[in-house]
This record gives sequence, C-alpha cells and structure tokens, in this order.
Amino acid sequence: MTGPKQGRTADKLAMLGGGRAVPKDLRIAAWPQVTDQDRAAVQRALDSGRFTAAAAGEREIPGLEEEWARFTGTRHAVAVANGTAAISIALGALGLEPGDEVIVPALSFIATAAAPLHLLAVPVFVDVDPVTYNMSPAAIEAAVTERTRAVVVVHLHGLPAEMDEITALARRHGIAVVEDAAQAHGAEYRGRKVGSIGAINTFSLNVSKNLATCGEGGLVTTDDDGLATRAVMLRQFGELIPERGERSYVSHVLGWNNKPSALQAAFTRNRLECFPDEAKRRDENVRRLLDRVAELPGFLRPRVPADRTHAWHILRFRVDPAAFGLADSYAGPLRAVVQRALRAEGVPAAPYQLMPLPAQRIFRERRGFGGLPWSLPGVPERPFREEDFPVAYRLIDDSFALQKAHLHPDAGPLLDRYADAFEKVWALRENLLGIATSLPHTPPWEQAEKIAASEWDGAFGPREGAS
Ligand SMILES: *Cc1c(COP(=O)(O)O)cnc(C)c1O
Repeated sequence: MTGPKQGRTADKLAMLGGGRAVPKDLRIAAWPQVTDQDRAAVQRALDSGRFTAAAAGEREIPGLEEEWARFTGTRHAVAVANGTAAISIALGALGLEPGDEVIVPALSFIATAAAPLHLLAVPVFVDVDPVTYNMSPAAIEAAVTERTRAVVVVHLHGLPAEMDEITALARRHGIAVVEDAAQAHGAEYRGRKVGSIGAINTFSLNVSKNLATCGEGGLVTTDDDGLATRAVMLRQFGELIPERGERSYVSHVLGWNNKPSALQAAFTRNRLECFPDEAKRRDENVRRLLDRVAELPGFLRPRVPADRTHAWHILRFRVDPAAFGLADSYAGPLRAVVQRALRAEGVPAAPYQLMPLPAQRIFRERRGFGGLPWSLPGVPERPFREEDFPVAYRLIDDSFALQKAHLHPDAGPLLDRYADAFEKVWALRENLLGIATSLPHTPPWEQAEKIAASEWDGAFGPREGAS
C-alpha cells in the first residue's frame, strides 16, 4: 500500500486507488459569497435602527420589494420570512378553505407540499416528466377534480415549466396558478421572467438559493393589487401596518408572523445588483461542463427547450444503463457506483430528495393536525400508492445532482475539472460494471426509511413510546 497519490493519473479511477481528477487544493468558493458591498449594505441597515417590516420608516424591505417587482416584471413584490411561508401566504391570499385541493409535484422540496397543509388544504401529488423533471400540463389536468382550487407549479432545479399550457388549462378549470420559483430566480419562459406568470408566485432567498440572503427570506410576486394587500396582511398578524403613522393593532384576518428582517433585505438588495452579471457567468461555466458531458452517452444532462432559459440551481444527471451496456434493471446500482466513482474523483455528486414527496411520512401517515385535512367531510380517501409515481421513483434511483459548488460565478475552473472527472469515469467505465451488477443495491427511499427510523428512535426512544 502506498500513501495518497500525487497529481492526476488518468488511467486509474480514484475510487480504485488512482489520483483525483479534481485536485484537492482547488478551493470551492463559499456560497453565498459575501463582498464588502454586502457588508456595507447590512451595516447601513444596522445603522438605520429599523429592523422589521413593522418599524415605521424602514426602507430596506420596501426597497427590495420595489427592486424585485421591477426585476421580475410584476406590479407587486412582498418580502416574507422564507420561501415556505411565501407559498402558504400565496395560497392564503387566494382564499383557500380547509379541504380544498392543491395540485403539487411528486418531486420537489418538502415545502411545496407542506405549505398547503398549513392551511388545511389537501396536497394532491402529480408525477413529473422524465426529461424536464417538471409536472406536464397533461398530468396536471388529469389530477383536477371539482375540489381543486390551485396548482403550485415548481420550476424544478431552475427550468421553467410549460406555463402557457398550464395557464390555459387552469383557466378552463377555474383554478389558480401559483409558481414556486424558489429554484429559478431570473429564469425566463417565452421572454417572461418566472414569478410573473401565475396569479401569485413565490421565491426563497435561503442561503442555498441562486439569489440568497444572509439567512432566511422569501418573496411573493403578483400583478393583482388585492392579492398583494392580502399577502402583506398574512405576513403580519392580519394587520395593515401603514408605512408612516400609527399602527392600529387590528387583526383583520388570521395571519402569521412571517415578516422579513431589514438586515437580510439590505443584504439581498446588494446581491440583486450583482445578480444579472453573476447569472451570466454561471450560465457560461455550467454550459461548458454540460457541453462536455453531452459527448458522453452514459450521462443524460439537463436539457433546455429553445423557448426558455435555465437558472441552473441544481444540475441533475441521469445515467443511461443501455449506453453502459447494462440491462435497464441495473439503472439504480449503476447510478450508485457512478456516483461513488465521481465523488472519489472530487465531484460532490449527491442525491436530491431520497423519496418522492408523497412517500414522506407527514403525507403517507398523515402526521399533521390530528389527521386533518384528510379527515374533513367530503375529502376523498386517496391512499398513497408507489405505482402512481413511477417517474419520480425512477429519477431518484437513476440520477444524482450537483448542488451549490457551481453557483459561484468564479466556479468555472472547478467545473472544468468536474468535466475531466465525468470523462475519466466514462472512459474507465469497464471497471464499474462488475460492481454495479454484483453489489446489493438499496434504493435511496429504503435508505431514507432506515435513517428515519433511527432518527426518530434517537429523539424519542424506541418505537413503542414514539407514536
Ligand atoms: C427551497 C425551496 C422552498 C422553500 O424555501 P425556504 O426559504 O427554505 O423556506 C420551496 N420550494 C422549493 C422548490 C425549494 O427549493
């Protein structure tokens, strides 16, 4: 046995003892970046002595709202505490009632489907498309019932969904479209920015997103004056708080306390100024990586239809077992070994979501408000069935994602080395086939079940005391 290898050995996978394609000393720049101008913006907010949306004369929050409305091309933007609150507030502003149905994708972050539950609305899950990873208009339409009030359209990983067709079907059925654009800041669909197409739409400003704050934050956008006013009330106890003058403390409707912080708004205002230039550089870096991966038949890279742009929040790659010379049933095991090989080369390939949303315990076991909203009169029994979500299950098993490291506008050299690693793993794929076909494979959702059981037991003791 020898010590750590120096340099890059192109003829041996790092997983099998060769050198890494991505040198260890190539630094991954932190995300979100914090520049001196960001610091100055936060200092400015600190010095103002006004820290919340309820502070009379506070200027950073309205400033961010105006700038975001202009950026997205909408009449109104309302800043809120986070992206999850933004979705609940958007649905609340639309006037959802307990037991109303909201269509959501089976593949997304938990917030998309948890937000309706906070209003006692029923999330109805729709499988995603195997190429775009978004809900197709046809799949949405098939899920519409007489109880459907809204559809939350996620632009997953940054690729806008088929908004014209979705808007048209929603109009036919009298349901509202809410864009969950938490992963798609700045992406365009047929010349329009996401967040300007649905009736009322949402963004997250979490540190992990393409437009970040220095903590938590979210934005709601709409062209409708009434919806905008209702969103403002819902974020602040149902109150209408004047920008100047006395606060009345009258709660007109049931709201939350989901006000944003002025420090975070100030930080994001400066990030927004840099956003167009940084997004352009990110686009160039990512395209260079994807163009090289396009030459490798074993990897299916993200695709962008000609009528839209991609925000590249997450880069998801599927493996194609046929191109590797394997039967289709080896898709999952092949992805697992390719992911391991890439990680050993220095590419942070990892899963995004270990199970489809409807398989999460909060929906499957209905752990919420004592069985509500499913136990409300008239809410149809809709048992969870794995076979209703074949694409989401397949994608979770046969793909891996790159997150965060590619977001920094200076990540170009790093992504070039990632491309080296993809090429190396593809060139040396013969080494992986025997592993893929012989090792036992545990799909991610089964791994998640084990993790879930041990987390729960760790927190609450063994099962009998748990339920
Ligand atoms: C991150 C995210 C959210 C939630 O945003 P938070 O600010 O973390 O609450 C909602 N939907 C999607 C698709 C997300 O990726």
